[in-house]
Amino acid sequence: MSYVDEVLKRVKEKNASEPEFLQAVEEVLDSLRPVIDANEETYRREAILERLTEPDRQFKFRVPWVDDKGQVQVNTGYRIQFNNSIGPYKGGLRLHPSVNTGIIKFLGFEQIFKNSLTGLPIGGGKGGADFDPKGKSDREVMAFCQSFMTELCKYIGADVDVPAGDIGTGAREIGYMFGQYKKIKSTYEGVLTGKGLTYGGSLARTEATGYGLLYITQELMKCHGESMEGKTVVISGAGNVAIYATQKAQQMGAKVVTCSDSTGWIYDPEGIDVELLKEVKEVKRARLTEYAAARKSAEYHEGRGVWSVKCDIALPCATQNELLLDDAKALVANGCKAVCEGANMPTTIDATKYLQENGVWFIGGKAANAGGVATSALEMTQNSERLSWTFEEVDSKLQQIMVNIYHNIDDAAKRYGQEGNYVMGANIAGFEKVANAMIAQGVV
Ligand code: NDP
Repeated sequence: MSYVDEVLKRVKEKNASEPEFLQAVEEVLDSLRPVIDANEETYRREAILERLTEPDRQFKFRVPWVDDKGQVQVNTGYRIQFNNSIGPYKGGLRLHPSVNTGIIKFLGFEQIFKNSLTGLPIGGGKGGADFDPKGKSDREVMAFCQSFMTELCKYIGADVDVPAGDIGTGAREIGYMFGQYKKIKSTYEGVLTGKGLTYGGSLARTEATGYGLLYITQELMKCHGESMEGKTVVISGAGNVAIYATQKAQQMGAKVVTCSDSTGWIYDPEGIDVELLKEVKEVKRARLTEYAAARKSAEYHEGRGVWSVKCDIALPCATQNELLLDDAKALVANGCKAVCEGANMPTTIDATKYLQENGVWFIGGKAANAGGVATSALEMTQNSERLSWTFEEVDSKLQQIMVNIYHNIDDAAKRYGQEGNYVMGANIAGFEKVANAMIAQGVV
């Protein structure tokens, strides 16, 4: 049995109750086969894959807080510190009822490779809680965030582990958590990223994941002799990533005709009105029915369906496993040329294979949504320097990082005779740097 298969078998036996983690490990290890096979003896002796798939440590803790009725509520908090061989642990905090050990573990594992791809010194981590900020008052959100940080603060620090936002964790939540960390630790340090601009946040961080997704998509199109101008784009999601991806796509001359949330989706043939979408989602925190009510050209549909719309480019920006095999078939049948993932693991393994086998250029989330964490790392740099860079400075660094990522993953795929397989290219490029650092640092 090959080394990869041996480790896959062991990981499956050990983590049987964590399907998302197994899916992520299988996807990564499968695509690393050419590199591992070429260096099997060294990697096996060093147990590189066993060490990579076993987190450095994980924390699971009780988060008690009091709701507006005086009732005590209890949530479960998580932080996973997966691998810090190239820098302090870094990764977001997801607040969503679906959060469990397996979800946090899959996200933390993916983060190792994504962070490595940015070219910046950051290791892989992730965290969150099964708390749902939806429908909660500001006071309740604050009570939760303070309780969550009261425990989390024991494990993090500006040079140790630097969490950030993710689903359900935006500027408001980061603000409350930062305040609590500062109060308990009596220290003012860049322990979280995604902070407000008046207290250490970076300009362009809010836009970074969506903008970065478009910068890499644009480079992909350019390298295939195409441009974004006049292209029809379908986007899922209506949160941070989806909103800024829509905005940048429109600035590049493309037309974005869809968005979605967890209850339904919008088809707007005139092009999504980003300002209206921001008002509905960022200000009112309302459903997409409000978008449709305010805009004549928009149709609202219950359930899922954005991938059935004819497009040149599809950008899944909502959540994991939201683009399935049938969706991939619909995209191919409609002549879609490129799929780039704004969300983490939105495309299932069979859907990814179908897209690749049918000539769709496919860039996975590890590379395509790395702009968010890259800009978080730029926020860390600014905090260390005690300086703030201009929007243009950060944005131009982000653009350069995304262009570099595209060429690194393209080159890595070519080196192993897999031209155009950007998933493999991303995993290989991310892996090589981490594996080399692990070997250099000995068995720790
Ligand atoms: P937000 O919470 O801002 O938005 C998430 C969007 O996805 C919302 O529109 C939400 O709908 C929808 N959604 C969430 N869960 C589901 C579901 N189960 N089914 C259908 N729709 C769903 O999160 P972000 O935009 O920040 O994150 C989106 C994705 O991008 C995630 O996978 C995240 O891990 C990834 N990502 C985010 C980064 C960032 O910088 N923000 C960086 C890198 C990756 P509703 O409004 O109904 O909740």
